[in-house]
Amino acid sequence: MILNIAMDGPVGAGKSSIASAVAGRLGILHLDTGAMYRAVGLTAIRRGVNLADEAAVTALCRAIQVSVAHGPGGQRTIVDSEDVTDCIRTPEVSMAASTVGRYAGVREEMVAIQQRLAKETPMLLDGRDICTVVLPDAPVKIYLTASAEERARRRHLEMVHKGDDTPYEQVLADLRARDDQDMNRKVNPLRPAEDAVIVDSTSLTFDQVVDAIIKIVEDKTRE
Ligand code: C5P
Repeated sequence: MILNIAMDGPVGAGKSSIASAVAGRLGILHLDTGAMYRAVGLTAIRRGVNLADEAAVTALCRAIQVSVAHGPGGQRTIVDSEDVTDCIRTPEVSMAASTVGRYAGVREEMVAIQQRLAKETPMLLDGRDICTVVLPDAPVKIYLTASAEERARRRHLEMVHKGDDTPYEQVLADLRARDDQDMNRKVNPLRPAEDAVIVDSTSLTFDQVVDAIIKIVEDKTRE
């Protein structure tokens, strides 16, 4: 049987790094679905497509091919034949990803790719609609969250380490704006699935979160 684990949560909850560590411990792949929305957002910006124009963004999304490749360094995200992995982590692309992610046609395209990949290979998928839409029948569903202040604190620290001097207040405001857009959009808004286990990492260390999730996986797959 293919083991699929579904994980959702708000901006900066640590989903990507936690998901990578959990998938590594379980010996399965990690699919970062946010990177796919980022790839669409980046391409729209580069091609001068108005992000507010749903029809234009949807047409663009249908015209390009977003794919992923998994290697020793983790996931690479590819648009047509270009590897865009190193271009999709800017604040501008984060917000663009959230904006294009509001559109039903974009979500349809992304969800179809994600469902196809998950059917073929055991993997942990992280995103915003994995438990509710992409894999509603996944045997393990996690909603990973933390307080907005703690998420902003962690993100700010990461940025400081990279030499980025954006003030904490700005990081917190950006995070709240993106949460707001993700949680209040009409199509597939971010919300915890009824049957997801909620993991609040506000006062947990990275290792404690990974251990807690591994324990949930063990319990759920034993049931
Ligand atoms: O997870 P990450 O922050 O990289 O995701 C970027 C944006 O992509 C999110 O803010 C969200 O709007 C969108 N997204 C989504 N559905 C997913 C994954 C990401 O709408 N499954």
